[in-house]
Amino acid sequence: MPIPSESELHLANLTKSFGAVRAIDGIDLAVPRGSFVALVGASGSGKSTLLKTINRLVAPDDGAILFRGTDVRSGPAPALRRRIGYVFQSIGLFPHMSVAENIGIGPRLAGQPIGTGRIAELLELVELEGGHAARMPHELSGGQRQRVGVARALASDPQLLLMDEPFGALDPVTRDALGRRVRELHGRLGLTTLMVTHDMTEALLLAERVLVMARGRIVADESPRALLAGAGGEEAQALVAVPRDQADAIAELEK
Ligand code: ADP
Ligand code: MG
Repeated sequence: MPIPSESELHLANLTKSFGAVRAIDGIDLAVPRGSFVALVGASGSGKSTLLKTINRLVAPDDGAILFRGTDVRSGPAPALRRRIGYVFQSIGLFPHMSVAENIGIGPRLAGQPIGTGRIAELLELVELEGGHAARMPHELSGGQRQRVGVARALASDPQLLLMDEPFGALDPVTRDALGRRVRELHGRLGLTTLMVTHDMTEALLLAERVLVMARGRIVADESPRALLAGAGGEEAQALVAVPRDQADAIAELEK
């Protein structure tokens, strides 16, 4: 398959099995620089495994991943991970470290610790007051913790942002606010973003392109507008039906 030169990320025949389970089943995907892509699908469809192969937390059995034209396996993993921000599915802050230490852990492990000025800047990006730097994770709300998770992912000034169900555990109001903030940061920082979510509403409202995964494959690859117009096939349409029916039911109540 020819490699589009403008692709930030290019996956070719990516395959990964766990025993008899084909978690990733021959995926080909090109992600242009600057795009915001949502990856939607049922639990167990391979979304997390796909993200983890990109920053080498999981080694594929077959296929290749090019990041800015270079195979992700070609250099040391820590150098790769400095260029890729990762927001984990479970919030995953270190409980015995302060907010500032959590945010700075990546650069510190890389031997390039960041200063308090940069910590303050990162806190501001995710709309947390500077005073939060000294707090411990247990002193924060779920939404604040996840903001710290996003700040940590941005700490080494990445080119690519991978987020695995980043807002899944949050209340709807916090979720909506943080989703919008991340979308804005994506544009402002010139990121390429891949966001896993099981929520089609979130995917339709935040992303410019929605991939639907099922059984380790991408079964639909459409814009939100095209999905809402009926494109993408049966599995995609079953997912789109949920928010659409809810919106219709609410509109009916308002009559
Ligand atoms: P999703 O994130 O879409 O819920 P995952 O990528 O976590 O899906 O998992 C895809 C499939 O691979 C599932 O069947 C899951 O049980 C399996 N799987 C994922 N990681 C492992 C692992 N480390 N060991 C064994 N099986 C795994
Ligand atoms: Mg997952």
